[in-house]
Amino acid sequence: MLRHLYIHTPFCNGKCAYCGFYSETADALSLSRYPALPARELRGVRDEFGLEIRPHTLYLGGGTPSLLGADGVSALLDAIRSVVPLAELEEFTVEVNPADASPRLFSTLSRLGVTRLSFGAQSFDDAVLRSLGRRHDAAQVFTALREAREAGFADVGIDLIAGLPGVGESSWRETLEQAVRFDLRHLSVYALTLESGTPLAKQAAEGAVKLPGETETMDALVQAQAYLEAAGFTRYEISNYAKPGFVCRHNLAVWHGADYLGLGPAAASRVGRLRWTNRSDRRRYEALLDGRRFAETRETLSEEENALERVLFALRLAEGLDVDEALSAYPVLASRRERWCTVLEGLCRQGIATKTGAARWRLTPRGFEVCDAVLRELE
Ligand code: SF4
Repeated sequence: MLRHLYIHTPFCNGKCAYCGFYSETADALSLSRYPALPARELRGVRDEFGLEIRPHTLYLGGGTPSLLGADGVSALLDAIRSVVPLAELEEFTVEVNPADASPRLFSTLSRLGVTRLSFGAQSFDDAVLRSLGRRHDAAQVFTALREAREAGFADVGIDLIAGLPGVGESSWRETLEQAVRFDLRHLSVYALTLESGTPLAKQAAEGAVKLPGETETMDALVQAQAYLEAAGFTRYEISNYAKPGFVCRHNLAVWHGADYLGLGPAAASRVGRLRWTNRSDRRRYEALLDGRRFAETRETLSEEENALERVLFALRLAEGLDVDEALSAYPVLASRRERWCTVLEGLCRQGIATKTGAARWRLTPRGFEVCDAVLRELE
């Protein structure tokens, strides 16, 4: 049974200076054609694998799904519903660019059963937003949050970027204060990463922009954790904070190792030991659908690779990794017990991990910042 669906909208109305993701500039014709495509892929994959799909979570991400507008999201959902039942949906998230917000969009999303809204705010400083090439300003974020609340949405969150050029400790604190004032339920706080080939990388290489160092960025993340936890949020995953009862269940299920289908260009899927990522090219994606080939290449993981992929992500979560539970769920990893425990004991001595109970290990805030290196050691 497959219970988690992600649908990617590959359009943006411009390109952010730091963005290394695939996206296309939206034009009216492409936007109007797009809502029918993910459902065609869904039908194809369902029939190919004989999958029973009853989504409990649905996540519309991008790119910029809100560019589809109220009618586009509505059409997309109708098409999906013609393939799989949505009666068991418990959580339905839509990412919204504040520039696309309107009372009509929110009332439509509410009528369609959307339960969570996630706004790409990134900063509340207009000069910083402009320098990042964002197409909204702080006032539009404030208006969007107010309109979402007026439409009845309780589960509303924003994304923020830590370690932005020109944002010192005091302005970062002001950003966090403003976020908390909105009585949000969820906050994603990402460290700025410099993706090669982006305008920001070029500006940094030419010395036109001075990026904060690793220590300053880490300090900003530590500052965020202290401030947000004092305001009642829990850092339940490295980059994600939620008020009690408002974690993103879709992402949590994926991080807990559940199977999921990602539809649309550049979307990733994991079904049993198969995983694949759709081509980052909308025309190519559509051509594959026309040819009834629903993915270009699929990778079959070994039993051990599959188990590792599903188990180790737990260290990115506040709940941590229970080695006994993990090994009893995936006996193929049993031979790793001794090495894992030795490595994790060593990390405890360095203040990177802590141990509770017989075998549950959690990364400390410092450990979260070096999580990728920890995961590599355990692979
Ligand atoms: S809105 Fe998101 S996907 Fe689109 S260009 Fe900006 S960062 Fe990239």
